[in-house]
Amino acid sequence: MSASDLPTRAIVATVETQDFWDATAEGRFLLRRCNTCEAVIWYPRSHCPICMSTDVSWIDAAGTGVVYSFSITRAASGTWKGALPYVLALVELDEGPRILTNIVGIDVDDVRIGMAVKVVFEDAIEGSALYRFAPVTT
Ligand SMILES: [Zn+2]
Repeated sequence: MSASDLPTRAIVATVETQDFWDATAEGRFLLRRCNTCEAVIWYPRSHCPICMSTDVSWIDAAGTGVVYSFSITRAASGTWKGALPYVLALVELDEGPRILTNIVGIDVDDVRIGMAVKVVFEDAIEGSALYRFAPVTT
C-alpha cells in the first residue's frame, strides 16, 4: 500500500511500541489511554506523562483529526530531495493528542489549517506500515 511517493524506512520497534507497529501493519491506529486520569497519550509509552501511572491501555483511535499547523518543505537533501515539495504537519487527533506527520494525497498548496484529515498507511521497509494523513473526502 502506498498513499504517496514519500520515502519510507524500516520500523525500529521497542517493547513500548511493538503493539502500535503491529497494529499499523493491520491498518489500525492505536493510542494509549491512562486508566488512572484518562489522559490519551501520544507517543506510545508504558506510563502516563500526566500522572506517571503505569496503568495504561491501548485504544483503537478513530484515525481522524484536523491539521493544527503545517509547513511546506521545498528544499531538502538526501532521500527526501526526490519527494519535494512535501508537507510536515501537526495533526490534532479527535482523541486530543497532536502528532507530527506528513499530509499526503493533496497538492501541497491546498493544505489548510483546520482541514479534516484521516490516517493512511504506507508499507514500511521490512514489514509493518508507516502512518501519514490525507484529506477526508466526502
Ligand atoms: Zn494519567
